[in-house]
Amino acid sequence: MALATAGEFLSFARQYDWGEQLLRRAIAMQPNWPKPRSELALLLMQAGRDDQAYGELQKAAELDPFHKQVQNQLELADEMKGFKTFKTENFSIIYPPGPDEALALDMTVMLDPIYNFVTSSFSHQPKHVTQIQIMPNERWFGVRITGIPEIWTIAACTGDVIAMTPPKVGARQRGAYDWARVIQHEFTHTVTLDRTQNRLAHWFTEACAVAMEPGGRDFNTCQLLADALANDGLFNLKTINWAFVRPEKPTDRPLAYAQANWMYDYIQVTFSHDAILSILDNFAKTNDSAKVIQTVTGQDEATFMDGFEKWAHQQVKSWGLGPHDGDEALKPIFEAFAKGIQPPDQILEKLTTDHPDHPDVLRLVAQKAIAEGDAGTARAAVLKYARARPVDPWSNKQLVILAQQLEKHDELIGALTALDENEQSTGQWAFELAKLYGKDKRWPEALANSLRAIQREPYNADYRENAATMALMNKDMGKAMHQVRALTLLEPDRSIHWARLAVIARRMGDEATSQQAAQKAVALDPQSPAKKLLQ
Ligand SMILES: [Zn+2]
Repeated sequence: MALATAGEFLSFARQYDWGEQLLRRAIAMQPNWPKPRSELALLLMQAGRDDQAYGELQKAAELDPFHKQVQNQLELADEMKGFKTFKTENFSIIYPPGPDEALALDMTVMLDPIYNFVTSSFSHQPKHVTQIQIMPNERWFGVRITGIPEIWTIAACTGDVIAMTPPKVGARQRGAYDWARVIQHEFTHTVTLDRTQNRLAHWFTEACAVAMEPGGRDFNTCQLLADALANDGLFNLKTINWAFVRPEKPTDRPLAYAQANWMYDYIQVTFSHDAILSILDNFAKTNDSAKVIQTVTGQDEATFMDGFEKWAHQQVKSWGLGPHDGDEALKPIFEAFAKGIQPPDQILEKLTTDHPDHPDVLRLVAQKAIAEGDAGTARAAVLKYARARPVDPWSNKQLVILAQQLEKHDELIGALTALDENEQSTGQWAFELAKLYGKDKRWPEALANSLRAIQREPYNADYRENAATMALMNKDMGKAMHQVRALTLLEPDRSIHWARLAVIARRMGDEATSQQAAQKAVALDPQSPAKKLLQ
């Protein structure tokens, strides 16, 4: 019993080799006991050794045909036998055949730059090739990651394997998301866990992973941090680890991610990036966070946290959040507004006179100006609020509308770019930018933004068509062919995609692909213009 439980625990702690040894010993001692076999099979799956896992799963299923988890895993392993693989320099990408191949295709060009960025940031290259496994939907993703303690709902890292549910809309799907950002987060776990031989406090591996996410923290996160700081709600170096594993409030886990990353920023600006690397190396020796911090910064926990909070107050101030003069006086008024009562003009005027720089007052003034309809006045009021609280995306959303009305082209591009920067769930801002740049015939920018839209919504055929056109305008045949190939995967029954592929492949000198695609195009539509390409 003890050996099997220890093996299971080590699988949780990602000590796979050691866990495997213990479980194999348990099996040798009691070969007919299903538990260690099923645990071994699950551990091998998590470690990415699916071939070995399959054999163990079958043995475990023979011993215990009613073990639900084993049955599920076996069913998934069967399903995954039909999956296909792309290989890049540093990754293998495993995906179900069909539309998901379009996403896998994008990964073949985008993953190695992510590898270079993350491995150089942490001065470490993992020993093994990292596997990216695209699961068909959230159900299979759920089965795939059963038993993994850290579930990030759309993707999870178990060391050398990163499993993800596709950024897709539909039944049993989680909807669109920035998959490259998520992989950059998960791959950071692969790197930091490998560098520390999986001995790393939970908060610090998350701190590093969030730090690698492009785009920065969003408004909700800023508000969460500001509230916690103002209300003495930040975690200490012990409680922060528990907040990931056993959150007590719904905000505990998001706050733990955000605070861990905030402390990372503080360490980086106050002590240096080398201090970050040194913390990683010290966690390989002890899991006591306070000791590690003391060794690297020379400060005990109290001193460290005190310095962090002082810095944090400055940050919150620069975001335009946290306490402001006039908060107490404004409270009852804002409570009334929250119930839908609009401020009468005299009250708003008095608020403006008494608290001219209060961000909440500035936003009320801006809202009123927008409602009154003079675009110029509204723009000035929105810009004033934006300066007082730069992290609120509301300003840029208003500026997108106002800049269009006032025909302020550069301001429109600026506002859309700012909105797009940390947008995670829609390609709409990037797509609008691509269209604007396209109108200006600025093809490199148009193409770059087309691709950013696809990064959030890789299954969106309209975005792909736009990107293919922008690539052609930019005379980038390779990128155009990539997008048209993706379209043939997303919409295999549309003759036009095959016809375009046939034309582009011929221009690229790839006659075999051109012929195949032309045949498909003509098979789907005998009148296809690809007919004249057929030899
Ligand atoms: Zn994570």
